[in-house]
Amino acid sequence: MKPGPLLTIFATILVFTGMTATADSPIAIAIHGGAGTISRSTVTVEQEQAIRAKLLEAITTAYQVLENDGDSMDAVISAIKILEDSPHFNAGKGSVFTWDGKNEMDAALMDGASLDAGAISGVANIANPIVLARLVMQKSKHVFLSGDGAVEFAIEQGLEKVPDKYFFTERRWQQLQDFKNQPELAAAEPQYRIGTVGAVALDRKGNLVAGTSTGGTTGKRYGRIGDSPIIGAGTYANNRSVAVSATGAGEFFIRGTVAHDISALVEYKGMTVDDAAREVIFEKLAALKGDGGVIAIDRHGNISMPFNTEGMYRASIDTSGKVKIMLYGEKAETK
Ligand code: ASP
Repeated sequence: MKPGPLLTIFATILVFTGMTATADSPIAIAIHGGAGTISRSTVTVEQEQAIRAKLLEAITTAYQVLENDGDSMDAVISAIKILEDSPHFNAGKGSVFTWDGKNEMDAALMDGASLDAGAISGVANIANPIVLARLVMQKSKHVFLSGDGAVEFAIEQGLEKVPDKYFFTERRWQQLQDFKNQPELAAAEPQYRIGTVGAVALDRKGNLVAGTSTGGTTGKRYGRIGDSPIIGAGTYANNRSVAVSATGAGEFFIRGTVAHDISALVEYKGMTVDDAAREVIFEKLAALKGDGGVIAIDRHGNISMPFNTEGMYRASIDTSGKVKIMLYGEKAETK
């Protein structure tokens, strides 16, 4: 039977808009909650349970968005918002303190279909920086806003300022005091920043999105910007290759243009997402003596989550629906 004119028009619209989604198109998602000195000796049983529970809540909530044919953008935002609202992660509510005892946050979001991006840095008193990054992308002419200018834009867009005390957590405050009392701790810095959050997702339309949100590093200088909000360093997405969100010692991720490098290896060299991500983390970043990890996903839904630290809080739901929640290295995880 020949398709009727209406069906032909509908099919043509789908092809032209790139919307060739079917119920069998793959969906997949990965999230992280930071990389660093995470081992069974540094994480208490209560902390471990709380972190696993939040990762599970974030990833299942985001996966439901994808399952209901929602956009990867909405899925990524929903996961990151849940982690930002938890005091257990270094983003939003649980952000680390700057040297001056403030909370200044960075975040970025990138859409792999259009290569649109939104980023903010050094932002105070905004509960969900990832939402602000999305507003910058969708409602401003700019890609990147910082400091007071970003907060002013947030208010214009209807976001509310929350008081400083919203971001106060005893653990992070204590970390700042320890950091100030023992500057040599700077050498063991990973534990003073652990908890950055990020998400990467593939939706049924084949669109990839990446997002990252962080409070940065404990005791950071006023004005310091990490890799998380820098497109191509800590966050990158391109439907032709991969979506990547990074976590680790930001300065090295900026110098190594880590997220874009992984994309470029996939796009131009034809490498698999896993080979590309591993090459950049274990070869390039390691050669710079930088530590951290990434979550990366390609347009077929293949996921890679390499890190060169002791652990990385991470979770994924692959194209077959298999859920993984992990904190430590593979070996320690299976103990
Ligand atoms: N990359 C973040 C920063 O340097 C911190 C982290 O991911 O642990 O701001």
